[in-house]
Amino acid sequence: MSLAQRPALSVVAPCYNEQDVLPEFLRRVGAVLDGVGGSSEIVLVDDGSRDRTWQVMTEAATRDPRIVAVSLMRNHGHQLALTAGLSVCRGERILIIDADLQDPPELLPDMMRLLDQDADVVYGQRRQRDGESLFKRATAAAFYRLIGRMTDVAIPTDTGDFRLMNRRVLDLLLAMPERHRFIRGMVAWIGGKQVPLVYDRQARVAGESKYPFTKMVRFAADAITAFSVVPLMASMTIGWVMAAIGFAFFVYSIAGWVAGANLPGWTSLMAAVGLLGGMQFLMLGIIGAYLGRLYDQNKGRPLFMIRDIVGGPK
Ligand code: UDP
Ligand code: MG
Repeated sequence: MSLAQRPALSVVAPCYNEQDVLPEFLRRVGAVLDGVGGSSEIVLVDDGSRDRTWQVMTEAATRDPRIVAVSLMRNHGHQLALTAGLSVCRGERILIIDADLQDPPELLPDMMRLLDQDADVVYGQRRQRDGESLFKRATAAAFYRLIGRMTDVAIPTDTGDFRLMNRRVLDLLLAMPERHRFIRGMVAWIGGKQVPLVYDRQARVAGESKYPFTKMVRFAADAITAFSVVPLMASMTIGWVMAAIGFAFFVYSIAGWVAGANLPGWTSLMAAVGLLGGMQFLMLGIIGAYLGRLYDQNKGRPLFMIRDIVGGPK
């Protein structure tokens, strides 16, 4: 296939230490693509894995001309690895899927049908999540509800990045230069006709989750600060309340001084100082969170750095 020709479909999967699932992933995705027919490519992104993921990928890419293996200079994290894959892929339609087979590739024909009916994006919406801890499910549910309240963008609940989109939406997504990427939110922000496809999320086929608690918290913070200024506003509200209380204290103490009353004062003073100090730190923290991201964004560094590409058009 020449550079100018687009395959009808690209499947894009970021992979971090997925040597154990990749063969099964490629087998199942390959079978689905054979069933769907038409030209296609599978873009695998090795996100700086420390196991044999890259070897498995390149071996597969030399065997199967449909496979394009991309490796990054180092671990960039799920969202940026995915962005790298999305910018390399050439398909008219693009399926985003995790390599661990938690999202069944067999849903592709249903998603294709919905896109045929004029949808721009079909996103997988999870009805059930097998093999994930109660903690993960509870924090995920709380997160989607929280961000839903904090932003005007209708980010669908209980969806991951598992979705099929057309080239128009992908090009718009790639034109968004932001560094702290919350891709499912950015796609929702683009708009167009976006329809859900409800499915049951499976357990991982092999390996373990690469999203430990700390990464989940960071991901949630990126999502909230990228899509909502409510925390900034909240600090303002709290600031006004605290200022009002502080002013009341000021009037009260002056009045006491005028009346000549000897204020015992020590406890309330310390309480006020403590309270105000705490609030100030909180507000500084929130401002810092946004400022830090502005700083990062302003550096304008490339979002990802490709080390090598094996396979694909010659
Ligand atoms: N992943 C990645 N880079 C990372 C972490 C994860 O490319 O730094 C990939 C991973 O290989 C998988 C997908 O992102 O294909 C989702 O990760 P995972 O399954 O670990 O997350 P979970 O499903 O547990 O939320
Ligand atoms: Mg997973």
